[in-house]
Amino acid sequence: MTRTTDATGSTDGTARTNASARAADRAHVFHSWSAQAQTDPLPVAGASGAYFWDHEGNRYLDFSSQLVYTNIGHQHPRVVAAIQEQAGQLCTVAPSFAVDVRSEAARLIAEHTPGDLDRIFFTTGGAEAVEHAVRMARLHTGRHKVLSAYRSYHGATSTAMHLTGDPRRWPSDTGAAGVVHFWGPYAYRSSFHATDEQQECERALRHLEETIVGEGPGTIAAVLLESVVGTAGVLVPPDGYLAGVRALCDRYGIVFVLDEVMAGFGRTGRWFAADHWGVVPDLLTFAKGVNSGYVPLGGVAIGEKIAATFADRPYPGGLTYSGHPLACAAAVATIETMRAERVVEHAADLGARVLGPGLRDLAARHRSVGEVRGLGAFWALELVADRTTREPLVPYAATGEAAAPMGRVAAACKARGLWPFVHMNRIHVAPPCNLTEAEAKEGLAILDEALEVADAETR
Ligand code: PLP
Repeated sequence: MTRTTDATGSTDGTARTNASARAADRAHVFHSWSAQAQTDPLPVAGASGAYFWDHEGNRYLDFSSQLVYTNIGHQHPRVVAAIQEQAGQLCTVAPSFAVDVRSEAARLIAEHTPGDLDRIFFTTGGAEAVEHAVRMARLHTGRHKVLSAYRSYHGATSTAMHLTGDPRRWPSDTGAAGVVHFWGPYAYRSSFHATDEQQECERALRHLEETIVGEGPGTIAAVLLESVVGTAGVLVPPDGYLAGVRALCDRYGIVFVLDEVMAGFGRTGRWFAADHWGVVPDLLTFAKGVNSGYVPLGGVAIGEKIAATFADRPYPGGLTYSGHPLACAAAVATIETMRAERVVEHAADLGARVLGPGLRDLAARHRSVGEVRGLGAFWALELVADRTTREPLVPYAATGEAAAPMGRVAAACKARGLWPFVHMNRIHVAPPCNLTEAEAKEGLAILDEALEVADAETR
């Protein structure tokens, strides 16, 4: 077959139109989280940096980093070259062998993880990392319960799905044994009738301790938390909260697991979000930004205490592709690139100087914005129907017609060339961490126009 290149530069054997690419997709691809007869995926022909485009020349500025993972943007030449080089040398080898690229990826990750978290168990994604962290905690403590927050997402495998707090759990909830949910801090919609962040912090910690005591501390293996809650709202914990959870875990002999799958690797302007508060968990899960998702990779960073448990006792778990050489090559090149290009520092500066002020300015001018919150390259605009009552622009867990107002806001962004991350009544702003100031301003200007649509939905 002659390879042809279409107007947008894609090569796939035939010159594609969006319609033909869509038809090919709909013929056999079964999509996640979707009603198959209704899903209508945008065909993507290519991508570079913070942009991707379809087959007909429509280009989008990606304010979602796909699913919040292309932290260094698309097609970074250094990472592409590293994958190609590794493919030429050794595509794959089983986890039981020692291979330099895997050792180097683990060493580089351990250089950035907090405290003594310097043993790396590799997985192929975030959910598996959570599964294994929970298994390690259960085996280490000999206890079975795991506490996690209602406002959380931890992945779509069985244990991770049950630990997830938000409505994505509901259809798959068969009440996994030992999973207990609690409320974390969220000052804007306090579950504790708190009037400020400090009160929210104290009351959320008291609630967690009461939950621990009520469940029986001797039955609890782990508390699992996202350092900064991601898809369930970009909820930045108040100062003192994570340190307070650390203290509770120490008091009751519970393993503290921080899920940094979304918040890690520069997203919040630090290598790991926990670094903002100097908190060191016993286990830390990561994925996504570790190699910007160029090849699937995740893992668990393990502290000394739990590593010691498995020094002479076999760890009963593994994955065929644990520490896959191509994924590890991508991680090595990504971390080296992030260091060389000071991507983490850039994300912190972008958040402090451009995204934060820019989003707060939008909030000041649009009555649909109830709250702006975030850090680094990780923000949320929470949209409301009424600023006084804080009624969400669409109801919690709304679907179909009830969710349509947010669909119209998203459509307004896309029509203007911005790809947003929309979840429930929020627009999350999670662009690549190396977004330029000019690109950030381009995106903010489009959001400004799209929020007119949201304003029209308010009372
Ligand atoms: N944990 C968090 C905090 C996440 O945001 C996600 C995915 O978005 C996961 C776990 C699951 O990761 P994966 O989809 O790679 O299994």
